[in-house]
Amino acid sequence: MSEKACGCTSTDCSSSGCSPDSGHGGHSGGCGSGGCGGHKELAPEQDRMNRTLRRIKHKIVVMSGKGGVGKSTVATNIAVGLSLAGKKVGLLDVDVHGPSVPRLLSLRDAKVHIDANHIEPVAWSDNLSVMSLGFLLPNAYQPVIWRGPVKQGFIQQLLSDVTWGDLDYMVVDCPPGTGDEPLSVMQMLGADAKAVIVTTPQGVAIDDVRRSVTFVGDVGNTVLGIVENMSGVVCSQCGHVENIFGKGGGMRLAQEVGVRFLGDIPLDPEVVRSGDEGYCFLRVQQESPTAKAIQKIIKPLLLLPDPQSGSEAAAAFAAAPTLCGEVKIAVPLAKGQLTQHFGHCEQLAVVTANMDTKTVTGSELVTPPPHEPNVMPAFVERLGVNLVIAGGMGQKALKQFYEKGIAVVCGAQGGTPVDVVTQYLQGKLLVGTNACDH
Ligand code: ADP
Repeated sequence: MSEKACGCTSTDCSSSGCSPDSGHGGHSGGCGSGGCGGHKELAPEQDRMNRTLRRIKHKIVVMSGKGGVGKSTVATNIAVGLSLAGKKVGLLDVDVHGPSVPRLLSLRDAKVHIDANHIEPVAWSDNLSVMSLGFLLPNAYQPVIWRGPVKQGFIQQLLSDVTWGDLDYMVVDCPPGTGDEPLSVMQMLGADAKAVIVTTPQGVAIDDVRRSVTFVGDVGNTVLGIVENMSGVVCSQCGHVENIFGKGGGMRLAQEVGVRFLGDIPLDPEVVRSGDEGYCFLRVQQESPTAKAIQKIIKPLLLLPDPQSGSEAAAAFAAAPTLCGEVKIAVPLAKGQLTQHFGHCEQLAVVTANMDTKTVTGSELVTPPPHEPNVMPAFVERLGVNLVIAGGMGQKALKQFYEKGIAVVCGAQGGTPVDVVTQYLQGKLLVGTNACDH
């Protein structure tokens, strides 16, 4: 396929070719045109993209550290599940090198209508619209040989020119890894896009997941949670799930990297068949353990608060990780109350809580080392803390916590540490914006 066959005009391609590093098209909604000499006017394509994205309530990016872990399968089933729950959903397949969504949804022969500035998505149902590079390729065997800027241009075009209309959810099937394309996707979607990371139980997954979690944190986005795919095997005779890799690995992994564990999906021959034949697994196999596992993963996504309702507090809370079992939660204090200045706190309360029973089981006060850059995250890590609830925290400290796999909830208001943690456990903690003024 020629580079222009994607519909990018040469102008589009070169403008999108501005690397994200140069600040284009990033979270700030910055310049999408060449030059970037600090001009205020938005480039037309950036403006179109902003207008398209404003009509989407929740953006969920499905990522994986590497290919073949079932990322597209999970992304497709999440999109289908949300649509079956009555939500308006767009499924965007930007996996430029392996666009498999058309096959998974039996849409291989679908034709896309394109006019000057608009690309009409393919309707899978009343509630689910789909767009994939696969629709634009002449055949399924055609490899895509594009350089980075062209891929970025193509992704930008899909985000700005597809006429999704008003959506409750956009689910993005992102290329694997933590390279240019996932970076472009995150930066173009903006800071409110949230990641679902798909992994498998194999031993190397921990490093992949940690890398993906760090990547998402570094670009300023939130991880909604981890999905462990191909966890155990469904017996084709009796439907029983055999946990050949042992149980609970995904949950432990999520805990270790400090993010929510959304659930596990077994290796199921029916999933392969549904993918190959393109039938709707969730509709046909509703009662199977695999369908129930997928529905469990979708549940917290359905509970995401409406960002347009103005409830920033609820949104921040929903983005916080769900930990399980016994955890240690650190709360920075001044005069016995949660302080807005994490780095300058007088004391640190380390509250022990049971996430399953939602109870506080203990609390101790420790005196942190004198304030110096980079000291607190290492100190908190040595205390065995899983989660920090803070008023405000600088970006550097936030990044270090992400890298250490310690979750952070920012923007909490005052209160004693036990009150703050109790409210957190009960889902009642009011969380505003990160109040750090340093
Ligand atoms: P990725 O997008 O990570 O490259 P895919 O979603 O394309 O992975 O899945 C790779 C292969 O694994 C496909 O053949 C798919 O049908 C199969 N697969 C994915 N998840 C499961 C599962 N839970 N059970 C059985 N097969 C699966």
